[in-house]
Amino acid sequence: MMTLRCNPTDSVRITSPFGPRNFSGLEFHLGMDLGPIVPGKEGDNIYTVADGTVRVSQANAGNQATGYGYYVVVEHKDYCSLYAHLQKLEVRVGQKVKAGEVDSTGPHLHFEIRECAYNKFWEKGKSKGEYKYVIDTQPLLLKRAFYYSIFKNHKD
Ligand SMILES: [Zn+2]
Repeated sequence: MMTLRCNPTDSVRITSPFGPRNFSGLEFHLGMDLGPIVPGKEGDNIYTVADGTVRVSQANAGNQATGYGYYVVVEHKDYCSLYAHLQKLEVRVGQKVKAGEVDSTGPHLHFEIRECAYNKFWEKGKSKGEYKYVIDTQPLLLKRAFYYSIFKNHKD
């Protein structure tokens, strides 16, 4: 199983989990949403979860990604990670990034992983939601980070 080198945010406060949800009609939530450490306070760092290459760094890509707002996709060795609802973009397409590097800042993060190379990233599927290679990211969060949200000054 893949492992993240770091969490995408210091906060692990999940405000909306992966999977089916019902807002104004049933939809499949392709990622999980992480709220900021201090609720309502914007500007937390968003980190690349592993070394990789930036494939997308832009606002919504037409009909491919409606609802993402500013978003970044990083291609890693055997999967891609996506960071959406960003305040601003700190990386450009083609840039090599290291685990833990700041991609952006955001009021809350929509985080996705698709277990494929970027050339298959937008392939549609049925059983796992709208895109074929999407997986649940919640089990991948690093345990250590849970302590950050419980003990605010815990440092190790
Ligand atoms: Zn979301």
